[in-house]
Amino acid sequence: MRRDPVAPYSLPSVDRVLRHGATEPLVAQHGRTAVTDAIRSVLAGLRAARAPDPGGPAAILERVAERLGEDSRPSLRPVFNLTGTVLHTNLGRAQLPAEAIEAMAIAARNPVSLEYDLESGKRGERDAHVEEILCRLTGAQAATVVNNNAAALLLVLGTLAARREVPVSRGELIEIGGSFRLPELMARSGCRLREVGTTNRTHLADYAEAVGAKTGLVLKVHASNYSIEGFTAAVAEADLALLCRERELPFVADLGSGTLADLRRFGLPYEPTAQDSLAHGADLVTFSGDKLLGGPQAGIIVGRADLIARIRRNPLRRALRVDKLTLAALGAVLRLYLDPDRLAERVPTLRMLARPVGEIRAMAERLRPLVASRFAKAAVEVVDCESQVGSGALPSQRIASAGLAVHPGGDRIAAVLRRLPVPVLGRIHQGAFILDLRCLLDEETFAAQLGRL
Ligand SMILES: *Cc1c(COP(=O)(O)O)cnc(C)c1O
Repeated sequence: MRRDPVAPYSLPSVDRVLRHGATEPLVAQHGRTAVTDAIRSVLAGLRAARAPDPGGPAAILERVAERLGEDSRPSLRPVFNLTGTVLHTNLGRAQLPAEAIEAMAIAARNPVSLEYDLESGKRGERDAHVEEILCRLTGAQAATVVNNNAAALLLVLGTLAARREVPVSRGELIEIGGSFRLPELMARSGCRLREVGTTNRTHLADYAEAVGAKTGLVLKVHASNYSIEGFTAAVAEADLALLCRERELPFVADLGSGTLADLRRFGLPYEPTAQDSLAHGADLVTFSGDKLLGGPQAGIIVGRADLIARIRRNPLRRALRVDKLTLAALGAVLRLYLDPDRLAERVPTLRMLARPVGEIRAMAERLRPLVASRFAKAAVEVVDCESQVGSGALPSQRIASAGLAVHPGGDRIAAVLRRLPVPVLGRIHQGAFILDLRCLLDEETFAAQLGRL
């Protein structure tokens, strides 16, 4: 039998392990190359650790099977978001409605009329699949969709204000998590930021003074992830719109999250809608598809037809465009907005935000004994907590919620729950691990995997 020359002690050779009968099902599942590589790597690991032979080829193959299972698992995995942040950017923001998932699957599987006009048999426009409904829902003349709201802003500024000044209130020069800083994005778009007013107070006169021959457009940014309180003043959209009309400049409102539904219907505070901004006189409005709208990642631009036409002619648009899957999902989500009465049951983001705290607390009571039985050394209590919308929407708004607190040893418990087949993510508060149950929609799976812990 061939021996590995560097082995200081006896481990079976790769060939010997490969010839073992238990290899066959692994090869059938993962392919011979992957199995050979995994055997080599497990043997190398044992050798490097100077570990004794774990019990011949059969025992080694057990480790190989484990390794292959790990390797074939995607790194993008479903998790339970019990952090209390409903639209968690790091966890992929909105969960799509069933209608949108179905539409994506159909578009994924088939050739589709993406840029093909079935009426005329000629080339079509990919925006056509969402433009009409966006106009109907917002009252806009035209609409276009790009990769995300940052792209929407980049495209609007680059098209309408390249090498020109764009006045923005100092109170709106925001940074949103990750690497989105408004001043930097503006610089990349080729326009020049002209700061107006102060951090806490900006008046119409500040804008009136700033706009002139060099101005490309006026931008108002919804300060979405923070709020300024106290001695403050901001200029209403309607007043800015009037000023811009007088000076013949486009007025652009970046709503950030934005929404098409009046959130007061769901017991939440008012959040600006695209239709309201347009009614106030905005020429263009930009907002995200995967924040409060509850759809796929996208940047939506609605407003004046002549401005949208110029944006469509910008060559950069090709680099920022959305694919058929996004359009399929977005179209399906937008169609749900035609029936506002049923939004809370059909759009998961809104369903979770509107969920009554009594329902959440009842679930916490149901799950408490199970969680307590898994963490015998810790105390598990039903607690009141507060959820937030996240992704920069309604930043100062806390939503009464309920959940479970496990303590002490929050960090250790967090690590154990992260290693579950569907990792459970919560938050640490004063040493306790808090599971905010507002976003737990699949209680059954949650309970079943805890039972196996
Ligand atoms: C979130 C946000 C953006 C960026 O939107 P993405 O869709 O994440 O690119 C831009 N502006 C404001 C005000 C926002 O809240």
